[in-house]
Amino acid sequence: MVSESYQHFRHDLLSGRTSCSEEVERALARIEELQHLGAFITVCPDQARTAAAESDKRFQQGSPRLLEGMIVAIKDNISTRGIRTTCASRMLEHFVPTYDATVVARLRDAGAIIIGKTNLDEFAMGSSNENSFFGSVRNPHNPEYVPGGSSGGSAVAVAARMAHVALGSDTGGSIRQPAAFCGLVGYKPSYGRVSRYGLVAFASSLDQIGPIARTVHDAAIVAYVLSGHDRHDSTSTEAPPISATIEPLRTNEQRPCIGIVGSTILDGCSDDVRTVYHQVVELLREVDYPLVDISFASIEAWIPTYYILATAEASSNLARYDGVRYGYRADDDEDMMTATRTNGFGQEVKRRIMLGTYVLSAGYYDAYYRKAQQARRWIVEDYRTIFAQCDAILLPTTPTPAFKLGEKLRDPLAMYLNDVLTVSANIAGIPALSLPAGTSADGLPIGVQLQAPYNQDEFLLRLAADLEQRIAASTSV
Ligand code: GLN
Repeated sequence: MVSESYQHFRHDLLSGRTSCSEEVERALARIEELQHLGAFITVCPDQARTAAAESDKRFQQGSPRLLEGMIVAIKDNISTRGIRTTCASRMLEHFVPTYDATVVARLRDAGAIIIGKTNLDEFAMGSSNENSFFGSVRNPHNPEYVPGGSSGGSAVAVAARMAHVALGSDTGGSIRQPAAFCGLVGYKPSYGRVSRYGLVAFASSLDQIGPIARTVHDAAIVAYVLSGHDRHDSTSTEAPPISATIEPLRTNEQRPCIGIVGSTILDGCSDDVRTVYHQVVELLREVDYPLVDISFASIEAWIPTYYILATAEASSNLARYDGVRYGYRADDDEDMMTATRTNGFGQEVKRRIMLGTYVLSAGYYDAYYRKAQQARRWIVEDYRTIFAQCDAILLPTTPTPAFKLGEKLRDPLAMYLNDVLTVSANIAGIPALSLPAGTSADGLPIGVQLQAPYNQDEFLLRLAADLEQRIAASTSV
């Protein structure tokens, strides 16, 4: 298996204890050994070995780049030149892009090694990674349980030490929720801070790429490389890259004020999630963080607003898969397009297209889509009011730890409700990060989530690094 974190690995590299080529061999062996977890759709041994040789050379010459030798797994809805990019869909089973997504190009330029493409819910639609044409992904902490989704393969690749870091995409929680279920750090940057060029669109106004890592430090250096303006993405902001130096909060520094949620949210969570949340609150209290009770007026609107906007945008984004331009084409002379879409998409994707076209249809547009846009405004205002009272918000990431495979498969609504605590950050466009904070009675990881105002990504990462340290110190005693 690969080193505990990239930071550790780099330390070992610099002291001459290991090499990038050796680390790549360890990653490939681990991927082979844990195939039954279903984390990868495509593995790239040849490219990875070539890149590792180049990285070793750079280290020998004394000029390693920022992410030199970092082994990265990429969610398979992010475009990689010459490596097939399937979105875990039959529709794109054999699709090989001709260009790299901006995030992939930036990783390569910084010296990272792409080890392969990870499994996901088809077109990133799901919360359990059971909606994949290539089969379900399993949680390494207990293979009877889901790893979360939709970036389940990315989370498993990092949790089971097949890669140092992975990229995920987060439309309504798909980075943070699998990170929480697998005991990792998952970070969704502010909307526009990371280019979406080359990310296969699900819901364009909500989608954001970000890292899944074992430590806040690793997530932060990757975020630095990914972020910064990109002229290929008109929604990418002019803001500078997210600074890689996460200075610890100084002991004499005024601690930021943290908003704490109460029973409206916690009553909907399982006992173990509630316990872990309270433990983290106590930890913050002990080290003199000012705490303030907050409550969201808009909370009931979060899930309905998300599922109306996300499905509306998805139905439009997925119209391009018609069997004509690229991807799968059904062999049917009578009605090729219908047959292509009927056979090419899985059940959940079809459900979303139906929902999305319904809420956008002339007769229902005002009742659903327009209403959801108004609710979005309300949610943004709600956050503004709350951020006038505190600097950051602490929430559970998910209402429960990982659930069993198959448990929610027949009940889409129960599956959708799992996203209740993650979707609002996407609706408001703010940065959010999930951090491992404890375990359930049966040994499954539990995360907590930090959210900060729009564009305050550096502050969020600094705060997360401080909390990470405190959690580590409290569990080691
Ligand atoms: N689970 C949510 C959904 O199914 C979020 C997915 C995502 O963030 N890509 O839409």
